[in-house]
Amino acid sequence: MSCVHEQLKASLDRWLEVHWHIHQIEKNYHYPDGVRYSFNSLIRSAKEIPDIISMELQNRADYKNSIKPYIARLKEDPLFSLLSTRRDYLVHRGMLEVNSSGSIGTTEGKKRPKISASFPIQPWESSDEAYQRFLVACKKDKALRSLLGPDCDSWPILRRKWCIPEFPDKDFLEVAIQTWQTLGDTLSSIISQLGGEVLDTTLSCQHDPYYIRNKEYSQEEFFRLVDGINVETGEPIKQ
Ligand SMILES: [Zn+2]
Repeated sequence: MSCVHEQLKASLDRWLEVHWHIHQIEKNYHYPDGVRYSFNSLIRSAKEIPDIISMELQNRADYKNSIKPYIARLKEDPLFSLLSTRRDYLVHRGMLEVNSSGSIGTTEGKKRPKISASFPIQPWESSDEAYQRFLVACKKDKALRSLLGPDCDSWPILRRKWCIPEFPDKDFLEVAIQTWQTLGDTLSSIISQLGGEVLDTTLSCQHDPYYIRNKEYSQEEFFRLVDGINVETGEPIKQ
């Protein structure tokens, strides 16, 4: 009899594809087109997996009693069933059925904002575009500038969050990772049922969520564009 993993070759390959899409979401987190393409691709790959498992194993004598219940349980998982019944989350540009939110403030490093306040970031807007709006707003509004703009020890930071409305507490990346893990657990249960070695679902290659969701901007640029000051010398910049 062939190795258990060999019997689930196509399912495991699709599971790897879901993993690959997690990294695409990470890379594209601040760009609306990129993030919706990657998130939709992840869902499309993920929702095919139960059928692929069935196709690969349905001819086994123990399929109905030992394997099918795991597939049934996967389909009942609240997040997985929601994702697999929706056709597309982000259908057309500008008609996104997702929540995009954000905050802007300053940081002195150490992986945390020093001060920040919520700042609306539209779902069709890149984080850079939202930041440009923030610069314009600070230029017009001195109170806003002094509250949320940097001083000589800090620099601007923008934090972004993408959510699907049904799961407002989890951002895209958490949804993506959880989906991959749920699938991994199902595959592991089946593999172990068939006598094989379980899968590693720790995702140790995950990038630091702090750096994914946050984007830091230049202190020098802020002082130059908003205050008209050279931050190095403290002198006004001659126009
Ligand atoms: Zn990885």
